[in-house]
Amino acid sequence: MFVGHYGVSLAVKASAPELDLGLLFLATQAPDLLWGVLNLLGVERTALAPALAGTAAPLAYRHPYSHGLPAVLVQGAAVAAVARAPRPGRGRAGRDAALVLGATACSHWALDVLVHRADLPLWGDRHQVGCGLARWPRAAYVAEATLLLGGLALALRAAPRGAGAGKAGLAAFVASLLLFQGAITFGAQAAPTKGQLASVLFSYGALAGAASWLGRRAFGGGAAAGAATRSTRPRPADIRCSAPPNSPTTPGRP
Ligand SMILES: [Zn+2]
Repeated sequence: MFVGHYGVSLAVKASAPELDLGLLFLATQAPDLLWGVLNLLGVERTALAPALAGTAAPLAYRHPYSHGLPAVLVQGAAVAAVARAPRPGRGRAGRDAALVLGATACSHWALDVLVHRADLPLWGDRHQVGCGLARWPRAAYVAEATLLLGGLALALRAAPRGAGAGKAGLAAFVASLLLFQGAITFGAQAAPTKGQLASVLFSYGALAGAASWLGRRAFGGGAAAGAATRSTRPRPADIRCSAPPNSPTTPGRP
């Protein structure tokens, strides 16, 4: 799964506007970022699997350290710890933000289970699970698009009024992600070379940077965004009182 993970980021942004959308984009792809680094280092491996030709992911992964369930839980804890470290004095708000970012990282595994064949380890490199939606490229694409568009709908609904240009930018960004996903799902895929792995990692960073900028345009910046957004939503008490590569083949992602 690729862009479907960003649907989670957008949905979280809708409920926690004070969180930077770029950080949420990075958190939700933490296992794939680690996958890219570990493949570059030769610790994990990704190979073309001819038996899977015609599927949305014709690749065989050995990725216990980036996509094993225990490893993903550790990544979630690490993301939360890193998010918490720079602002230990923010009290409960800072702790809650760190926990949300950590949970966002862990969501990656649950969504990957939907599309992966049984290659996601529950322990070590064994007891592998996966629903295998990738066997049906159209269904896999619909799942990715549904998650992404659902997240966008929640984010646009939560964004404050008067941010029309920011919302339009966010919607256009999501449309470009859907086109990119279409190229991956229905185009030819190959086992990524080291150069392609580096470009994949760069693209994750670039997408996070774009998401951060567009998120600030749509929601306003930082903690003020949360306050501004919340101020436009009636609180329950108020209601009672007043009656987020150019080559012909695309390197696969886990
Ligand atoms: Zn993944």
